[in-house]
Amino acid sequence: MTAQIIDGKAFAATVREKVAGHVARLKEENNVTPGLAVVLVGEDPASQVYVRSKGKQTVEVGMNSYEHKLDADTSEEDLLAVVNKLNNDPDVHGILVQLPLPDHLNEDLIINSIDPAKDVDGFHISNVGLLGTGQKSMVPCTPLGCLMMLRDHHGSLSGMDAVVIGRSNIVGKPMAQLLLGDSCTVTIAHSRTKDLPEVVRRADIVVAAVGRPEMVLGDWIKEGATVIDVGINRIERDGKNKLVGDVDFASASERAGAITPVPGGVGPMTIACLLANTVTACCRANGLAEPEGLTA
Ligand code: NAD
Repeated sequence: MTAQIIDGKAFAATVREKVAGHVARLKEENNVTPGLAVVLVGEDPASQVYVRSKGKQTVEVGMNSYEHKLDADTSEEDLLAVVNKLNNDPDVHGILVQLPLPDHLNEDLIINSIDPAKDVDGFHISNVGLLGTGQKSMVPCTPLGCLMMLRDHHGSLSGMDAVVIGRSNIVGKPMAQLLLGDSCTVTIAHSRTKDLPEVVRRADIVVAAVGRPEMVLGDWIKEGATVIDVGINRIERDGKNKLVGDVDFASASERAGAITPVPGGVGPMTIACLLANTVTACCRANGLAEPEGLTA
């Protein structure tokens, strides 16, 4: 079998189009413009690229973008004051503090100081609890993007065996909660899992979020399974820098029914879902109907 490629780039473009449509309606009918504030502390080059990209896409869908760039030695007190100001600003509907933060700042403390209703990354402890108990929450962007692609490909996920490889708070655990919410039978595998290949072979859906280049091999994949590759790994091959996932794409695509490529799979969906979450937060803040198809 040669797998169907799930084109995350094209799918993300349709999500952004939907978001732009909702933004236009909010402006016209309700005189509200959704606003996303991104806070960047320090000069981590990868974070700077992400923040630039987020700001650009925010403006492209018609929303207001507010960037707060703070020095690497910003104190916890000063950062908390910035977050507090954004919490109280009615023009700001989404707040994202770019991670990782410099070592002297307590990430949990900062994230949990964000108003949960504006926590468009879905990392606040209240949102984690709401998601875990199946209540309306802000859902972390990367797993939300994976869920959207899976729903689009399969329709219903009910009863499917899903294996999530990785148990991080930002991908693995929320992904598992979302799949459980869609009535999958979910296994969370991790670095201590015994006989990982055998566990993965049971899966109708495999989500790989490990951070190890091309670790998941084709003969781990059940014939016809859907493979979602979250990994983004930079490697050198044949003297060139290359971006690869956690799945060995060449061998896995011989067995899978459908697979996301890296790049061009999960990656583009993450920022699209951040924009979707900001529109959702704006609608909730204004007591308006939430956009359909953009939330979990
Ligand atoms: P993490 O390092 O926080 O977590 C990795 C998880 O993988 C851990 O839970 C660990 O138990 C598990 N793991 C490690 N080695 C393993 C092994 N040999 N076998 C089985 N499990 C193992 O990473 P993360 O933040 O969850 O990110 C995972 C990957 O996804 C990374 O490559 C990251 O760059 C990528 N990522 C992509 C996006 C995106 O937008 N596409 C977003 C977030 C993360």
